[in-house]
Amino acid sequence: MINQERIVNAFLEYVQISSPTKFEGKFAAYITNELKSLGFSVVVDDAGEKLGCDTGNVIAKLKGTVEGSPILFSCHMDTVSPGENIKPIIKEGIIYSDGTTILGGDDKAGIAAIIEAVKTIKENNIPHADIEISFSIFEEGGLHGAKNLDYSQFKAKHAFILDSGGEPGQVITRGPAQDKLDFKVIGRPAHAGVAPEEGISAIMVAAAAISKMNLLRIDEETTANIGRIEGGSVTNIVAPEAIVKAESRSLDNDKLKKQSDHMVACFMEAAEAFGAKVECDVVRMYSAFHVDSEDAIVKNVFEACENIGIKPFTAPSGGGSDTNIFNANGLTAVNLGIGERKPHTLEEHLHIVDLVNASKLVMELIKLYAK
Ligand SMILES: [Zn+2]
Repeated sequence: MINQERIVNAFLEYVQISSPTKFEGKFAAYITNELKSLGFSVVVDDAGEKLGCDTGNVIAKLKGTVEGSPILFSCHMDTVSPGENIKPIIKEGIIYSDGTTILGGDDKAGIAAIIEAVKTIKENNIPHADIEISFSIFEEGGLHGAKNLDYSQFKAKHAFILDSGGEPGQVITRGPAQDKLDFKVIGRPAHAGVAPEEGISAIMVAAAAISKMNLLRIDEETTANIGRIEGGSVTNIVAPEAIVKAESRSLDNDKLKKQSDHMVACFMEAAEAFGAKVECDVVRMYSAFHVDSEDAIVKNVFEACENIGIKPFTAPSGGGSDTNIFNANGLTAVNLGIGERKPHTLEEHLHIVDLVNASKLVMELIKLYAK
């Protein structure tokens, strides 16, 4: 029933409307019109004003034709750069960019899948419960749109985020928590040749701290990385300051805390040993989520996949997504594979069959939740 030509054309249209992070306004206006024409009531929230974006999150609701259980779908509207003037090209059933930009299948493939599913439901008078949609802003670089969403406005208990790279059938049931760690070591400057004993080298303090640190793969659930280090200026001055930027992630919130505490302790101990000071700033970017594979939401996706002949499977994710934020705000949410291949690269591409299957899956879920 999904109209392949129509969904491909919609997708091509969407990716040609630029929506770099914080400048999603033009696309938001376009998709708002589309949603209204399908009978949704649409509001744009005030998250954009708080975040300095040119639009807020787009929240759309369609009243059910039957009672059933309300169902929520979500995607993000923003794309990474280079993502302006995208010129999509179709070659042998696969959609690519022209190689100078990303494609924007992340996450407009999800948006196209949702819109086409609703169109199909409506034109075939298929019964549906309340359908709620959230198209978020500023997902890339911090999940900020979802963090500024008012979750009390939703009736749905189950949220489906369409934003994973796996093929349709993949159900992401676990996502990591992430901490951002910023360290500033404050030593003491001195002339490196005349009076080095009067100085405290911030670079040496940082080196000592890092050399004691467990990093990269910590265990199968936990990772940590120093991403940037800067400090000092010229060779004849003992460096008075060093800045170190790091992250840690874990599928387990407690393990993450342990890793981040360890990284802080390494800096504190090194600073003390050298008589330096260190400022540590640890920010929890988002919390981990873990939806049990016996949970009704997972069983529902599995049933929907089987109904349309695609093979369902669960998987963990290594990265954060709006799914983390929905779960942290009282909904049960999973992230569905929509076949965004090589996202965030110039080689990003999308198999048309995946686009169609993602839309079939959305339609099947809507049918299930009408019961
Ligand atoms: Zn994405």
